[in-house]
Amino acid sequence: MNKIHLPGETIGIIGGGQLGQMMAASAKEKGFKVLILDPTPNCPAAQVSDGQIVSSYDDLSGLIKLAKKCDVLTYEFENVDAETISEVKKYTDVPQGTKALIVTQNRIREKSFLEDNGFPVVKHAIVNSYSEFTSAIESVGIPAILKTVEGGYDGKGQLRIEDNSFSENDVQELLTSGTCILEAQIDLLKEVSVVISGNSNGEQSVFPVIENEHRNNILHISNCPAFIKAETEQECYQIAAKIASGLNLVGTMCVEFFIDTKHQVYVNEIAPRPHNSGHLTIEACNVSQFDTHILGVCGWEMPKVKLFESAIMVNLLGQHLQPAKDAITKHVDWYFHDYGKAEAKHNRKMGHITILTDNIELSKLQIQNDPIWDK
Ligand code: ADP
Ligand code: MG
Repeated sequence: MNKIHLPGETIGIIGGGQLGQMMAASAKEKGFKVLILDPTPNCPAAQVSDGQIVSSYDDLSGLIKLAKKCDVLTYEFENVDAETISEVKKYTDVPQGTKALIVTQNRIREKSFLEDNGFPVVKHAIVNSYSEFTSAIESVGIPAILKTVEGGYDGKGQLRIEDNSFSENDVQELLTSGTCILEAQIDLLKEVSVVISGNSNGEQSVFPVIENEHRNNILHISNCPAFIKAETEQECYQIAAKIASGLNLVGTMCVEFFIDTKHQVYVNEIAPRPHNSGHLTIEACNVSQFDTHILGVCGWEMPKVKLFESAIMVNLLGQHLQPAKDAITKHVDWYFHDYGKAEAKHNRKMGHITILTDNIELSKLQIQNDPIWDK
């Protein structure tokens, strides 16, 4: 059942971005060998690993090649084809299985899973055509957000319907990418997330609730602990633990929550992998979300998480990277992470900074006034 993997063995990671890179760094530290599969040569994860198979994620022959070379296989993102995973299982151990992938890859399946298990979600309706969109507007109300069911990230594949002056063209255009879902826009008090990891014995490690602020629908700044009511915090932990059990969680996942102005909690979405908001666990906790991912996947016991110091994390997008590099020699107390991506594109995540602080409010204010993040 629970196969245990030990240092010296090889871990294969599908996807070579920053999440794969930080997973690989944690695995290497423990003495594992790491192989990455990614279409971009010298991708961020490959830079800290033992080798890379340059292949697209949907090329079965590349994935089989990876599977044959590793003792255990994991992934850094949710858009891995579940059937492909089932296929490569013939060649290597894939302890995460496919349930979490299948449920979370598609916003309709995700919402149904959450509703069927009694978890609170925002009011929503499925939209396949413009006429379904107009009836959805009737039932869901305005303001609302139209989202593609598959493949969206960092606010991509979303259209805000603020009032009745929405453009039919914009709606039709989003619908060309496939089925959409219309969600009621919540009056947000806060957004928080719970990062949780598990192993195949059902043991869990839970990280303290993290509070998140977005800019243009992209995560900008996170802080831990979150400033929320104790009851809300408990509710988030309970929901996250139940979701993790319901998805047979192995490795790390993250549950994103909305809290509205009436303190009502909703599950926004689930990421079946380490999450941007959990990056601060690298410096702030006894184990990081990447450590617990590796432990879970390798079938080790799950540790109790301790927060050593409160922290904030700020993302460095393409436009922030150079000014951050220019400033970093004067901010030696900042934990600066550069993912090593070849090109600094606007609004693309290039790195992040974690700051350990006993005054979160003050540190956030300093970041707000720092010209690095002006744009
Ligand atoms: P993704 O992270 O995949 O881009 P999300 O559904 O998490 O997509 O949306 C991104 C951000 O947009 C959220 O973190 C939140 O700030 C905002 N948002 C999305 N859906 C809603 C909603 N129903 N009500 C209010 N804000 C929302
Ligand atoms: Mg999200």
